[in-house]
Amino acid sequence: MAAAISSEKIDLVIYGPHKPIVDNGFSDQFVLHKFETRGDLDRLNPAVAEKVRGIAVTYNSVRGDKAMLAQFPKLEIVSSFGVGYDHIDAAYAAEHNIVVANTPDVLTEEVADIALGLLIATLREFVKADRYLRSGLWTTQQFPLSVGSLRDRKVGMVGMGRIGQAIGRRLEACRVPVVYHSRHPAEGVSYKHYPDLIEMAKAVDTLVLIVPGGASTANMINAEVMKALGPRGVIINVARGSVIDEQALIAALKSGTILSAGLDVFANEPTVPDELKAMQNVVLLPHIGSASVVTRNAMDQLVVDNLKTWFAGKPPLTPVAETPAKGR
Ligand code: NDP
Repeated sequence: MAAAISSEKIDLVIYGPHKPIVDNGFSDQFVLHKFETRGDLDRLNPAVAEKVRGIAVTYNSVRGDKAMLAQFPKLEIVSSFGVGYDHIDAAYAAEHNIVVANTPDVLTEEVADIALGLLIATLREFVKADRYLRSGLWTTQQFPLSVGSLRDRKVGMVGMGRIGQAIGRRLEACRVPVVYHSRHPAEGVSYKHYPDLIEMAKAVDTLVLIVPGGASTANMINAEVMKALGPRGVIINVARGSVIDEQALIAALKSGTILSAGLDVFANEPTVPDELKAMQNVVLLPHIGSASVVTRNAMDQLVVDNLKTWFAGKPPLTPVAETPAKGR
């Protein structure tokens, strides 16, 4: 699969929040139609929809679901921002010969940094300590010793793909033993593989989640997994909120079934349950895994480059697994 080269103008939809790198990334060979929200897109002129051949989805706050994609009969490619693409119906796209591309690799190390930082911040209580200092309490008494420490831990990674392996490298540098669960053993990875998640949870005291969202991972970290992890248990989620049963997590944190959690993602973002916000044994981040200027710029550029490469007659740089694009 690859686009035919032609001198004709190419109509593109840019869907989602404005991004200067995307907005300004195309030559005048392209005609851009910009829609920030689904409400905006619903006002799209059908005569324009008829001509659209490519879509840039600039954030996962908008969805490329079946109804959205079906509006564009000549659609060839959806270039989506982010490595996770659970907001794009890739199965529908594959059935309709539409290529989906995402933005892997350029964010791998950044997200791995956040995972390690969040793990240490959770164990060593950075946020609580910061509040303690600012409140003036340090002038009268020492901050209590942290119960958690990275020193005596064994980490079970849930997911051992690009980012999982980058987190593993960081943990190795910290001299922390690593094992992992995924459906298949990861190629070239020497850590012990557990095909069974519960077995792994029993064997470790820390879970770091870095799997895709979607149906196959929904609520995979449930009450049973938390019980298996045990009272020293720490869960770090940099994957998707849907991967954890959030109510079961709240119950486990309250009852002491596990010790603490560090969360970058939530089931119903940007709404976070008040019960979590009230807890002292959690560190909560507003989905900032890849959110630095340098990395987000690289992701935006890859959204543009996938489209340009396709319309130059070549396969996109980073197609998703459901729509592996071949050259001509
Ligand atoms: P990869 O595709 O490289 O790796 C995914 C890993 O998850 C593989 O080891 C895969 O192994 C495993 N996996 C997939 N499905 C399942 C399943 N049902 N059960 C168990 N394991 C599974 O992806 P990346 O490492 O690049 O990214 C992973 C995810 O991280 C993204 O999809 C995204 O959701 C999230 N992410 C979050 C960010 C944030 O801001 N917090 C930023 C970037 C990514 P196998 O197929 O063998 O099961």
